Amino acid sequence: MTIQAISDALLIRATNDFVAIECRLTGSDQPACFAIPFDALAAREGRQDDTVRFEQATDMVTLRWFDADIPQSAQFSTSEPISMPELPSAFMAIDRQFLDAMADERTYGDEITNQGDQDDLGSPATGPRAAIGKIRRLRRRGPRHPTGVAVNRRPEIPTRGDGRKPMIAPAVGANTVVQSPPQRDYISFSAISTYQQCPLKYFFKYIEGLEDKFATTSLALGGAIHSAAEFHFNELLAGSPPPDHDTLRGVFWEEWQSRCNAASIRFGKGEDLDSVEKTADRVIAAFRDSEFARPTGTILGIEEELRLPLIPGLPDILGRIDLIVDTDDALKIIDLKTARSRWSTDQAERAGEQLMLYAALAKDLVPGKPMQLEFAVITKTANPTVECFPVSLREFRIERTKRVMESVWSAVQSRHFYPAPSPMTCPSCSFRNECDAWIG
Ligand code: SF4
Repeated sequence: MTIQAISDALLIRATNDFVAIECRLTGSDQPACFAIPFDALAAREGRQDDTVRFEQATDMVTLRWFDADIPQSAQFSTSEPISMPELPSAFMAIDRQFLDAMADERTYGDEITNQGDQDDLGSPATGPRAAIGKIRRLRRRGPRHPTGVAVNRRPEIPTRGDGRKPMIAPAVGANTVVQSPPQRDYISFSAISTYQQCPLKYFFKYIEGLEDKFATTSLALGGAIHSAAEFHFNELLAGSPPPDHDTLRGVFWEEWQSRCNAASIRFGKGEDLDSVEKTADRVIAAFRDSEFARPTGTILGIEEELRLPLIPGLPDILGRIDLIVDTDDALKIIDLKTARSRWSTDQAERAGEQLMLYAALAKDLVPGKPMQLEFAVITKTANPTVECFPVSLREFRIERTKRVMESVWSAVQSRHFYPAPSPMTCPSCSFRNECDAWIG
């Protein structure tokens, strides 16, 4: 989206492959021209008429406004301003549902299916080595998306049953109902966890298929740290020496940038790019110095997706395991967390449901070998720490986790969706406008 101030108007321009729109607001502004992601305006949420101030730096634009008298800001990379196409020589009327269909295509047009991984992971293994071989094949394949995001780390996006994208033209006619977003054919722990936080948030994200309009600094920072750690372990898996600080820093910023492109980053009070940079440098240094960065044993999988029909009557359960290491004594299943403060042993035990699920998914990787579950927790503090917390693997906790998933799935099937407002969840929820407008 391009914003251009000329002597007597502000021009706001947006284009895609099909449509070019220019909105002209009369008034006088300082001459300026820059382009920002379309979703930048969503960061503001537009519920009041308060002024939004744009501050342009070399290659960044900062939006500033007030929400309930609290100063807010969001920062975006700028790109080349777009040029508008020539006006067509003739115009014709279109069905009003055409724009709905265009919006659907924007939401689902970039759909990625996990079919390749499903083919690999969904078929029964013929032995432990075969299972490990599958992980290794996936790792070798390991293509990176042009955005820099590893393909197997794409957001979970619902797929149609036939694996094809929704179509626009044939589905739209004067009496045609535009179809609802398709349902996914698997359940992940993060989806269940979202429902537990707020059932209405689950509805917007996983049933309606709405995209996040913004991400918090904490989420983006955590994702970028994950990417740097993933790169580090991939290098070790390939037999290369550990990457140096600057290389991991580059991976961090590549992922940060791809997250900026996907959704605006909402900075909290006292946060800006400088503070993110300082935190990133400290965390990377602490990670490289830690025992966690030098695992003993053979790395079998990094950010691996395992998918199994674990619970009768439910879709497949899908888990993405950060690190799988085969040691002399056990198969280690490790989940990496980034946190604002240090964890306690009790906190790690209580958060262990996710690892219980991963244990159930990974139980046939090396039959007969004991499994060890572990959280690796990196703090994003002034003096970052990297600590590993073993979590006890107990059969009854696995069963309990399965029962929780059954209950949540049953509630989803019965369409039990309602808002669960919370000061912990709502401030970082992308769907506040939709939530305000929701009438049940
Ligand atoms: S704003 Fe709060 S209550 Fe509403 S959907 Fe989001 S998390 Fe749920």
